[in-house]
Amino acid sequence: MLKLTTRQITALGEVQGTQFIARVTENFKLPEPLRSKHILLIKNGNQSDLPLGFRAYFYLQDDESVIGKHLAIENSFLLPQDQNYLNEGDILRFDPQRLALRTLYRKNSRHNGLLVTERCNNFCLMCSQPPKEANDSYLVAEWLEAIPLMNRDTGELIITGGEPTLLGDDLIILIRALKNYLPNTSIHMLSNGRNFSDFDFTKKVASIAHPDLMIGIPVYSDVSNIHDYVVQADGAFDETIRGIINLKRLEQKVEIRVVLHKQTYERLPQLAEFLARNLLFVDHIALMGLEMTGFTRHNLEDLWIDPIDYQSQLVQAVETLARYKLNVSVYNHQLCVLDKRLWPYNRKSISDWKNEYMPECEPCTKKTECGGFFSSATLRYSEHIEPFKV
Ligand code: SF4
Repeated sequence: MLKLTTRQITALGEVQGTQFIARVTENFKLPEPLRSKHILLIKNGNQSDLPLGFRAYFYLQDDESVIGKHLAIENSFLLPQDQNYLNEGDILRFDPQRLALRTLYRKNSRHNGLLVTERCNNFCLMCSQPPKEANDSYLVAEWLEAIPLMNRDTGELIITGGEPTLLGDDLIILIRALKNYLPNTSIHMLSNGRNFSDFDFTKKVASIAHPDLMIGIPVYSDVSNIHDYVVQADGAFDETIRGIINLKRLEQKVEIRVVLHKQTYERLPQLAEFLARNLLFVDHIALMGLEMTGFTRHNLEDLWIDPIDYQSQLVQAVETLARYKLNVSVYNHQLCVLDKRLWPYNRKSISDWKNEYMPECEPCTKKTECGGFFSSATLRYSEHIEPFKV
C-alpha cells in the first residue's frame, strides 16, 4: 500500500513558511518565475549547485551522509523511503513546520480522489470514510489551488467524501473549476444522491454542463427500510430515488453502486429487477465487494459474508440487468471466488495505492487478470482463494 501521508520527514536546513500546495518537479532548469509553485525532487543526493527559488527541496535518498556532503539550503528535507513513488507532476500539501506531507494527486495514477468533505448526512454501516462533524470547508479551497496544477491529460478524477453535495454552492464552484482547467478529464462523483431530490440544486449542477461528469449513487435494496437501515437514515431511500430521477431528467450521467454484504446480498435479484423496471435509464450499475475499513471493521459480524456464498444471487442479478441491456460491472472481487459466468463483467477496480495480493496468489497464473484485494482485506477475506494453475 502506498503511503500517501507521512510525518517521517527530516529537515536538513533552516525551515521557513507555513503549509502550502505545490507540484513536484525534477527539472533543475525550471524557469525562475515558476519555481515558487514547485518542489524540486532530488533523486541523486550527490547533485551539487542546486538552483534557488523553489518552494522546497525534497531528497529521495535514505543516506543522510551523502546529503551532508553539500550545503543544505533553506527548506530542504529528507523523505522516508516509502515516498519513493513520488514523481514529476505529482501535487503535494506540505507543512514545513509540522513536517506533515500529503500526496494530493499522482500524475501517473488513474485513481486520484478529491476528498472534498468528511461531513455526511448518512451513517452507512460499512462507511469506509466515517463522517466527521467538523467544518472542513478549507478542503475545497485546497482543491481549487491544486486543480490548476494538475496535468491537462489527466484521464479521470474522483470527487469523494463524506457527502460532496453538502458543500452546496462550493461544489458548483469546484466542478466548474474542473471543467475549466481540465476539460478532457472524466469526473466521477460519489454521492448518496439525497440532495439531488432538491430540483433547484440539481439544476445548478446540470447547468455547469460538464462534458463528462458521472454521479455514482448507492441503492442497497428494493425495500426502502432495508436501504434506510444500511445507510442509517430514515427517508434516505425516497430522497435517493427522487435524486436519481431528477438527475436523469436533466440528462446527467448516473451510476448505481451496490455494496455486497450480509444485509444486501439476499435481495440482490429483487434489487436488480427493481432497477431494471424503474431506473432503466441509468448509465452504469456497479456491484461491489466490501472494503474492510472504516465502520466495516466495527460492524464486521453484521456485514461479512464470504463472496463464495452469494454467487448465486450475484449471477441472478447480473443476468437480469444484462437481459434488460443495462451496463453492469462487478467490482472488487477476486477471480477465483467469482462464478465464471460473471467474469465478462468483472473489472479491476481497486485503487492502485491500496491494491494488493495475498501470499496464496503467488503461483496464480491469472494474477494479471485478477483485481486482487484491498490492502485492508488482511482483516478478513474469502476462505476459498485458490490460485489458478493453468
Ligand atoms: S489466487 Fe489471487 S490472484 Fe489468483 S484469482 Fe485468486 S485472488 Fe486472484
